[in-house]
Formats: sequence, structure tokens, C-alpha cells
Amino acid sequence: MTAPSRDDPMDPSNRPRDGQEMDGLADFSLFEQEKAIMQRSEQMLEALDAVADGVKVLAKAYSESYRAQRRMMRMSDRMQADLQSANHQLREQAEHLAQLNNALSEEVRERERLTAELERLALEDALTGLFSRRRVIDCVEGMADSVGDESHSLAVMMLDLDDFKTLNDTHGHAAGDFALENFAEILRGELGAEQYAGRMGGEEFLVVAADLDREAAVDLAERIRTAVENASLHWKDEPLSLAVSIGLVVTTNPWPDAGELVALADDLLYRAKNEGRNRVIVQTHGDHG
Ligand code: GH3
Ligand code: MG
Ligand code: MG
Repeated sequence: MTAPSRDDPMDPSNRPRDGQEMDGLADFSLFEQEKAIMQRSEQMLEALDAVADGVKVLAKAYSESYRAQRRMMRMSDRMQADLQSANHQLREQAEHLAQLNNALSEEVRERERLTAELERLALEDALTGLFSRRRVIDCVEGMADSVGDESHSLAVMMLDLDDFKTLNDTHGHAAGDFALENFAEILRGELGAEQYAGRMGGEEFLVVAADLDREAAVDLAERIRTAVENASLHWKDEPLSLAVSIGLVVTTNPWPDAGELVALADDLLYRAKNEGRNRVIVQTHGDHG
């Protein structure tokens, strides 16, 4: 607050004292007072205008800020709605993915099962449970090459059931299957360690046995033949007569071409058929002394 000036007519110290003033002077002072009051009023009006301008600016800023806030709230509402919908979509996608994942795992398991089944079929004959053609030939290949090294000798037999067509024709295909299964069972019963049997196809089988000399190999073949001949099989109360012809090769030499050994056994089987069936024809290679 500024100190009152000496000329300020509003200041009581500057007012004329009793008996001192003349009338003219009093008039002059009144005029001055009014002028000063007018000036003050103008100043106050100007100040009020300034305040009003300030209030207008403030009101404008306030209303702009209010509009901006409303805009932001609308945006925030929209963003929240978008977020919720995105969340919902994500949840749905996650569920869908989980379902796909389950289906995929199921598919993988099914493929693994089929692959295992295919591998089993590739290695095992489905009807008899004996080795598959491929697996038994692999056995011959593995064993024929190492004769004289890992084993002293090798016996390879080709076996074919006699007159099997007649059995099928007389008793039916199911009876034929039953006979094939029983034949396989007889083979399993006669074979020992390092002796393997596989189904080459139809009613034809291959047996491979390590470390049998000629006599032991013929003995094994004869045991198989007589076991088949003496098997007492019945199908629907009807007896099934079964017989087998066998071509047998025994070698003490390594035989790099396993296919040749199998073909040789097949030739001997053909001879067994020609010579009346239900018999063993043997041929030896190498030193059997
Ligand atoms: P052979 O003494 O000369 O060997 O005469 P075979 O009658 O045994 O020979 P053939 O080749 O004339 O006939 C073989 C028969 O074996 C014909 C076929 O229907 C039958 N066969 C082949 N595979 C199967 C099978 O898996 N199940 C049955 N039930 N029969 C089969
Ligand atoms: Mg036959
Ligand atoms: Mg045949």
C-alpha cells in the first residue's frame, strides 16, 4: 500500500482545517476531490475490465479444457471398449488354438500308432506272427556272409505246404488260414536259438539256422516235416491232413549272395515236389567232413 500523498484530497491530513479555508478554496477542493474520485473510478473500471478479461480468458481456458477432457474420456471409453473386444477375441483365439493343438496331438499320436503298425507289418507276418519275407531274407543275408567267421555253418530251408489248394477247396479259406497258423506254431515249437522262420508268401516259408552240420540240419527239417504230417488238426470236426515239402541247403562256406542261397533252396523244394512231396531234399556246400 502506498503512503498517502500530500496532494491527495482524500487524505484527512491534507483537508483544510476549521476556520482556515476560504469558500473558493473549498470549491476548488471539492472539484479536485470529484476529479480524483472520477480518476479512481476510471482506474477501478479499467481494473475491472482487466479482471473481466482475465475471467473471460480463464472461462475460455476452462471450457476448452473441459471439452478436451470430455474428448479424452470419450477416447478412453472407446479404447476400453476396443481393449475389451480385443481381449475377447484373444480369448477366443486362444481357445481355438488349444483345440487345434489337441487335434494336432491326436493326429501325431495316430500317425505314430500307424507308423508303428506299418513297421510291425513290415517285420512280421500278420496271419502267422512269423517274420515277414523281408525280415527273414535280411536274416539270411546277415548270417550267410559271416559263415566260417561267426558260425561254422548255415542251413537254409524253403518249405511249401503240399496240395494246399485242395485243402482250401475242400474246407474253405478260413480252414486254410487255420492250417497256416498251426503250421507256424509247429515251426516255432521246433526252432531253437539262432533259428528263424518267415513267411515268404501264401503257403511258402523260409527257415534259416546257424551252426548246424548236415546231419543236424536234416534232422531239424525231418522233425518239422513229421510234426506237420502227424499234426492232428480238425476244422469243424473234420480232420485236416497237412504235409510239407522242404528244400534244404547247408553250407560251411561264406555266401555273399544270400539271394542265390535262397534260390538254391527253392530249386531243391521244386525237386522235393517232383519226387512225390512230403519229403526233404538236401544239398551241402563246403567241408562237411
Ligand atoms: P503244391 O503241393 O504243388 O504246393 O500244391 P499247392 O496246392 O499247395 O500249390 P498251389 O500253388 O497250386 O496252391 C497254393 C494255394 O494256397 C492257393 C492259394 O489259394 C492258397 N493260399 C495262398 N495264401 C493263402 C492264405 O493266406 N490263406 C489261405 N487260406 N490260402 C492261401
Ligand atoms: Mg503248396
Ligand atoms: Mg506254393
